[in-house]
Amino acid sequence: MHNSDITKPTLIGLSRNKLAGVFATLGVPERARRMRVAQVWNWMYARGAVEFEHMTVLSKELRAALGENYSLARPEIVTGQVSTDGTRKWLLRLAPDKPGTQGPLIETVYIPEATRGTLCISSQVGCTLSCSFCHTGTQKLVRNLTPQEIAGQIMLARDCIGDWPGVEADDPAGLPEVPRKITNIVLMGMGEPLYNFDNVRDAMAIASASDGLAYSKRRITLSTSGVVPEIPRWGEQANTMLAISLHGVRDELRDELVPINRKWPIAELLEACRQYPSLSNAKRITFEYVMLKGVNDTLADAKELVRLLAGIPAKINLIPFNPWPGAPFECSDWEQIELFAEVVNRAGYASPVRSPRGRDIMAACGQLKSESVKQRASERRVEAAAP
Ligand code: SAH
Ligand code: SF4
Repeated sequence: MHNSDITKPTLIGLSRNKLAGVFATLGVPERARRMRVAQVWNWMYARGAVEFEHMTVLSKELRAALGENYSLARPEIVTGQVSTDGTRKWLLRLAPDKPGTQGPLIETVYIPEATRGTLCISSQVGCTLSCSFCHTGTQKLVRNLTPQEIAGQIMLARDCIGDWPGVEADDPAGLPEVPRKITNIVLMGMGEPLYNFDNVRDAMAIASASDGLAYSKRRITLSTSGVVPEIPRWGEQANTMLAISLHGVRDELRDELVPINRKWPIAELLEACRQYPSLSNAKRITFEYVMLKGVNDTLADAKELVRLLAGIPAKINLIPFNPWPGAPFECSDWEQIELFAEVVNRAGYASPVRSPRGRDIMAACGQLKSESVKQRASERRVEAAAP
């Protein structure tokens, strides 16, 4: 039997302590719990097991007890799309908040290149912030994702692209020619990850644990719109790579583009960046800058950008604006992006333009949005009562 029954709680994404608690409820004596946790982690995260039956290091009775009460379920796939450039996007349904209702929807995107593969994961359904150029920002926050749902996106993508030892992809076209098909994880999908701090931290602890999913923290990047007080905490508690959605170099403009700037303006944001732990030339902060025609793309902006970042070990990532229906902006002209990039290049930042990927399937930066809306309690009661 495939242990993907979503009505049972999944063990994917549980901390070691919580997993030990699971074994306690199943009657495993305390002295054996640590070993059981290590064994199950290995089967889940190193081998990608989807069935307890395969975990032959466990006794038959224990496997049966696990199967009766728990699952190894990942989020449920509603649709999977492949772009003409090989980018893949999955629309995923999460478990419902109330029995008898439909769970909310999120998106996860996989971007293969020749020698690397980047998985872009979501941290929230919708977003509380409303950056004016971002499609996700037009969707109100429905809820935070749990650690299970955050780690589950990685598990599911690895299932789909056959990224487990000894497993082949169903459709290997366009996958990188390296042993691991997902080499990098970016928290750049739906949501503001620092507004779901604990759950994102707990999921990334599993992603980076050497006996977990074993991604180096250098290959995990959290992108934030600039939740300044959480940046030092993230440095202390997770210390992954950091990306900052800067997008404007003057407070009046950034207030409009990234409204969180009204709370924490550019100077405070950059000060938090300077203090981020263990920065060096080998470990730099990425500054993201979306190219909006006639809004933030003059050469004076480029020079100011370079001036602002002086002294911070930084990479600059110019992102051509990805359009979405009804967006109030246009992408800068290509010549303008090149001129802007030249100023940035001359200041010593190599290859700063991010090539748009997956635009045809609305999988590019800032295009993600799902139909889920937050229901009012009264609506939920009606649905739950319906036959
Ligand atoms: N909430 C986080 C992470 C998700 S967004 C943040 O804002 O950083 C990932 C990146 O895509 C951010 O830099 C975001 O500003 C950028 N982005 C949003 N909408 C975009 C669009 N339409 N075109 C290009 N980039 C966009
Ligand atoms: Fe939210 Fe990031 Fe989009 Fe801003 S850019 S609305 S913070 S997801």
